[in-house]
Amino acid sequence: MKILIVEDETKTGDYLRQGLREAGYAVELARDGADGLHLALEGDPDLVILDVMLPGIDGWQVLRGLRREGREMPVLFLSARDAVEDRVKGLELGADDYLVKPFSFSELLARVRTILRRGRGGPEATVLRVADLELDLLRRRVTRAGQRIELTAKEFSLLELLMRRHGEVLPRTLIASQVWDMNFDSDTNVIEVAVRRLRAKVDEGFAPRLIQTVRGMGYVLEAPDPPEPSP
Ligand code: CA
Repeated sequence: MKILIVEDETKTGDYLRQGLREAGYAVELARDGADGLHLALEGDPDLVILDVMLPGIDGWQVLRGLRREGREMPVLFLSARDAVEDRVKGLELGADDYLVKPFSFSELLARVRTILRRGRGGPEATVLRVADLELDLLRRRVTRAGQRIELTAKEFSLLELLMRRHGEVLPRTLIASQVWDMNFDSDTNVIEVAVRRLRAKVDEGFAPRLIQTVRGMGYVLEAPDPPEPSP
């Protein structure tokens, strides 16, 4: 898998390049928009990580340039600005995801993996729904039965994973690698604690309970089948 980073901040660019290389990706780095657009068109990477504020051609223009040339590779925007309008603009222009600086590398890696796993299957829904639980990827917002639920960044990632793969029992090791970018062979306590906290927010005071523990295996988020209608 080939990733192109377009980032003018030297430290951030170098850090991302090194981290993604260590994670096993082939990485190219462009320091400005013109170079980024050129490398994206020439190299046809599987993913472009694109800083919004770039000297010369900015991130929006790079993305427009790519789409104008019919290049549909996924684009993950990086921005120091946390305005909803910016995210909406990016996603309207055809970005696949949006990450606000400062972010942790593990968070970036989780997004990168999600996007690459999704592949080039075209645009994806920006709201995930299971029963009355909704997770809005665009606005980073979760509601249950219309009630807003405040989550930490990790809880949000954990819930996103559970919702994307709802109905599937996810082993703790998989959750650890996807959400924490770590391998917990022995210590799964971190995950248990996080799931307990998430469950308290998402399930307490609501019915039915959506997050289930499957003893000895892991966790699953699913809506139970509706009860048989009584005759
Ligand atoms: Ca920048």
